[in-house]
Amino acid sequence: RTGWIEVVCGSMFSGKTEELIRRLNRAKIAKQKVEIFKPALDTRYHEENIVSHNSLMIRSTPIQSSQEILLLSGDCDVVGIDEVQFFDSGIVEVVNNLANSGKRVIVAGLDMDFQGKPFGEMPALMAIAEYITKVHAVCVVCGDVANYSYRKTAAQEQVMLGETDSYEARCRKCFHL
Ligand code: ADP
Ligand code: MG
Repeated sequence: RTGWIEVVCGSMFSGKTEELIRRLNRAKIAKQKVEIFKPALDTRYHEENIVSHNSLMIRSTPIQSSQEILLLSGDCDVVGIDEVQFFDSGIVEVVNNLANSGKRVIVAGLDMDFQGKPFGEMPALMAIAEYITKVHAVCVVCGDVANYSYRKTAAQEQVMLGETDSYEARCRKCFHL
């Protein structure tokens, strides 16, 4: 059996987690063995669960380093990873190894940071993936299709956990206002 890689990407509030949970739940319905991981640093909604902005939820294992995914994914059929842009650079080889060993790997993450720059290893993951789905939010300023995560505060660090308090989805025009 051959494995493959699926990337679900987009801005904040674009439905990445919603889509990831949808795919993983369908794999479970097909009686496939599913393992789900998220970076331990992301505890915004819940320590263990992955939670979407429309309150879907799925159990996951929070981990510190990408290598733990190899150790913990064992004999499963499908591996899901959320917020994959937060992982160390080892994540690319880990995801590739999992797919090479016959697993379906579905990763979800931000393709751009708050400055509109590619985020972490997302470009590399998109390059090696068989399938890429870009999902879109709604621009909170004008209602057009949003591609960007606009930061509402002056903070300059790339990783700053936050939600509607500190970020909003914006289209290209309103992002540059
Ligand atoms: P992501 O993981 O990409 O941040 P989620 O899957 O957690 O997104 O959340 C998607 C949900 O967020 C949508 O179904 C919708 O209910 C809600 N939502 C809130 N703000 C927006 C927005 N500006 N555009 C689209 N969806 C939004
Ligand atoms: Mg999400």
